[in-house]
Amino acid sequence: MDVLSTQKKALLLGNEAVVRGAVEAGIDVATTYPGTPSSEIADTFSKIAQYYKNKGLEPGFYFQYSTNEKVALEFAAAAAVSGLRALTCMKHVGLNVASDTFMTYMYVGCKAGHVIITADDPSCHSSQNEQDNRYYAKFGNAPLLEPSDPLEAKDMVMEAFKISEELSLPILFRMTTRTSHIRGPVSLGRINLKKKKGKFEKNPLMVTVPEVARKLHPILLEKMEMAEKISENSRFNYVEDFGGNAGIVSSGPSHNYVREAVEELGVKCKILKLGMTNPLPRKMCIDFLKACGRVLVVEELEPFLEEQLKAIAHEEEIDVKIYGKGYGGLSRIYEYDVDIVERVIRKFFGLKEKESASSSIPIPPRPPVLCPGCPHRATYYAVKQVAPEGTIYPTDIGCYTLGKAPPLEVADFLLCMGSNVGTACGFSYATNQKVISFMGDSTFFHAGLPGIVNAVHHNHDCIITVLDNRTTAMTGHQPNPGTEYDGMGNEAVMLKVEDVVRGLGVKHVEVVNPNNLEKTKETFRRALEYKGTSVVVSKAPCILLIPQERRAGSFEIDQNKCTKCEVCIKKFGCPAFYYDGDKIKIDETLCSACGVCTQVCEPHAIRRKK
Ligand code: SF4
Ligand code: SF4
Repeated sequence: MDVLSTQKKALLLGNEAVVRGAVEAGIDVATTYPGTPSSEIADTFSKIAQYYKNKGLEPGFYFQYSTNEKVALEFAAAAAVSGLRALTCMKHVGLNVASDTFMTYMYVGCKAGHVIITADDPSCHSSQNEQDNRYYAKFGNAPLLEPSDPLEAKDMVMEAFKISEELSLPILFRMTTRTSHIRGPVSLGRINLKKKKGKFEKNPLMVTVPEVARKLHPILLEKMEMAEKISENSRFNYVEDFGGNAGIVSSGPSHNYVREAVEELGVKCKILKLGMTNPLPRKMCIDFLKACGRVLVVEELEPFLEEQLKAIAHEEEIDVKIYGKGYGGLSRIYEYDVDIVERVIRKFFGLKEKESASSSIPIPPRPPVLCPGCPHRATYYAVKQVAPEGTIYPTDIGCYTLGKAPPLEVADFLLCMGSNVGTACGFSYATNQKVISFMGDSTFFHAGLPGIVNAVHHNHDCIITVLDNRTTAMTGHQPNPGTEYDGMGNEAVMLKVEDVVRGLGVKHVEVVNPNNLEKTKETFRRALEYKGTSVVVSKAPCILLIPQERRAGSFEIDQNKCTKCEVCIKKFGCPAFYYDGDKIKIDETLCSACGVCTQVCEPHAIRRKK
């Protein structure tokens, strides 16, 4: 494994570099709920644990795919206050789930270092929003580090543990999709893994009743004053002087674009590169602003640095013009790239705009679709066959959100993890329409349970469908409480969705294999007749979990029987179907031989290829 390399250097993904940093820092406990773009951090911990286990060795740390981000943070917090170095990683919206814990945990603080990684997703490559989690650092009073590349990510993680221990405060560590997923050379040190046990020393200041919280809040503010001194001296905050008195301030991946553009254009400027961005190194910023006649701030998403620099300039009465969002097309939305940044820097230095070299070759759009053979397609097809016109389909976060696309179109409303149930109940109350909601098995355990309790308690009339494909598919097939193994590769207690919902008081519960379309339709018909909360567990493994040999072979269409009714294409929508001239055919390189299409083809034109 590259991440365990004993060489001096390795080419690592940003996410792998984070893990390597933690491994060199002597990580004891790592927890997560998987979410892109952070997933490879957790998956790498899991792979390392299983790598050692398969060699009959003790991994030297404990890793957990927790039920959700809040639980992940709480588990690791207990380890960190007991003296074990901990790391918790999640995608940016995961921090919303963990925020209740996070906000008060900052008051309590930790004993051993605890690094909380938030992987933000500018441009929403795989997320429901592109919130800028640097504001959580301000909001919760957390020191914040932001690497620009894999090498810095590794070094910063190691430093983050030290800062965390110096301040007895968890550290927020912000990756973005770009930093997580670029690969770069990383200098390696010694692997430092050794299993330890901590000791929890009781302290009444760890029980955050109001009287204690009132004492802890000023202590937290004092710690942040100490953090500012650390920021002032941090090697991750520095000025590069290329002459002149124009300044550019940047952080994260934007810094790489700034450096590339400045070198390319040969402009004279000073660059303030900020790696520790909360608290800002105020004195360093003052000196920088004073040394520059005008300053350009280049940062993705919100004007987090810009606003603070403007406030500092105002408070210190520094005569400097600061440009940021809105200048030359610097936007508060989406990722930046080197072209965007170079365009802005040209404007800042009064250089001519670069002539567009774009060849403008039109690329056909390729929207994501459910895989051929995906059991969710079968569930959706069956539901659409029996649900009355106007049925509302609240959905959730997972592969199954792709049911939104034609021809299935079974996704009408989505907010966040677990929202399908709460919104289903709301629609059921607010309208006379039927409501059938969808969530995956991992989402069910993550955030679906409280909504179901609420539905049962108030007897809301809706069908909650749990698409149980036996894994956390979208983020890379991680285990969840419904699977029989855990992230360390150990056997785990497997919870059955149907048992859990019965335990919660749902009276109408049915389990069906969606690959049997007739049975699935009957199941949903019964659920539609039922008055009150019902749960359908549509259970079949993700097609990618089925061994290749069982997916081998293909189906084909008997052209003599095919009537060109197009049900297979226009209603069922398996992407393996295509038109070859006027013939409908099945692409055998795509077909995963699930056979479900044979049930939608009324003339029985589809058959297994011999
Ligand atoms: S559903 Fe069957 S008959 Fe209709 S177009 Fe497809 S293969 Fe032909
Ligand atoms: S058997 Fe039919 S439904 Fe299944 S993957 Fe192949 S073409 Fe698609």
